[in-house]
Amino acid sequence: MRPAILDDALSREQDHPDSELKSGGPWGAVGEFHTARGGRACDVSCALAVAMLPTEPVGSIPRPAALIAGVQDFQAGRISPRELSALYDAAVQDTIQRLEATGSPVITDGEQAKHSFATYSIHGLDNLSPDGVPIPFADGHIRHFPRLISGPFRYKTPADVYLEAAQRYAHVPVKQAVVSASALSLLYPQGGIRGYSREEYLDALIAEQEGEIRRCLEMGAHVVQMDFTEGRLSIKLDPSRRLLQSFIDLNNLVLERFSAEERKRIGVHTCPGADRHSTHSADVDYAELLPSLFALKANNFCVQLASEPDRKRVLRMIREHVRDGQRIFVGVIDPLDPRVETPEEVRDRILEASDYIAPDRLGTTDDCGFAPFSDDTSRTRETAFDKIRARVAGTALASRLLGLE
Ligand SMILES: [Zn+2]
Repeated sequence: MRPAILDDALSREQDHPDSELKSGGPWGAVGEFHTARGGRACDVSCALAVAMLPTEPVGSIPRPAALIAGVQDFQAGRISPRELSALYDAAVQDTIQRLEATGSPVITDGEQAKHSFATYSIHGLDNLSPDGVPIPFADGHIRHFPRLISGPFRYKTPADVYLEAAQRYAHVPVKQAVVSASALSLLYPQGGIRGYSREEYLDALIAEQEGEIRRCLEMGAHVVQMDFTEGRLSIKLDPSRRLLQSFIDLNNLVLERFSAEERKRIGVHTCPGADRHSTHSADVDYAELLPSLFALKANNFCVQLASEPDRKRVLRMIREHVRDGQRIFVGVIDPLDPRVETPEEVRDRILEASDYIAPDRLGTTDDCGFAPFSDDTSRTRETAFDKIRARVAGTALASRLLGLE
């Protein structure tokens, strides 16, 4: 069911289909980074989790100006793939260093080398066209998904490639975000592709996603988080919620390939989108999403909450629908708000949440990434790190009051 709204181009994503990822460096060489490394990161985090409520970011951090300029230089042919790769590497290293300096017990690579949270694995494939499903944001701007034009479908740069690069620099556990299969299901055009059926496409997609999640787990990712921002959006596109149910079913086909033990390290992130100060589905009532959300066979849910106008109502719904064994990481930081929250505000939001969710099933996070699309400069890196520092400090304050520390 392709949403029949708008038509344009997330085309910055696709202007250079044969782009920087082709040669050399960790960002192009899919395959050589799939070596399992054994769960190296988890001992530290498990120890911290006992002392304090778990807290972790969603994923992205705004890219440094030098990297954004470098990508433009590369696209204009002014720098080489090797030079661009060096810029990615420097950005990952600097971001990890600064995230570790916030005191966050779990970090990400800030998605510095991802083209976007949704297209990192497919960016640069030559069987995509830029004119796919449009994602309209509340401020009027539109991002477009690419459209698959032929089979077979394979990822170009799966998430484990990014994880491997991050682990070179990290001293604390690294979380890895992956885009959901349901988001990528939107690549397949409603009119079909001659000689490559939707079923063939979805089989390939599920296999690719299982592979990247499994490799990330084997490499010792603290948790692998499936980004499911299109869950809430789907209700806007199809108020009957059939699209949402099909998304849940598809993602569960991926999740069911993992054991109960493995799913303890698999999470889901839900939000109404965050791009250039705007959202795509904040006007959709959470009540439409939450009952279905927890049907996803994952254990950890990073749930946007700080920016909700009535947090207590949402918390009541979470309490009603959360299933056994699922932990809720409540959003206590709003990345779209330029003001940096205080640790005391964060503390109070956590204490509010603890009235509805038992501390042993509670964690904290940010409502979303700080720059899910690589060219989004509406927030600064400094603001992102300051907000994360406030989350960590506020979580420590609340943990103490809840008797955890
Ligand atoms: Zn998000």
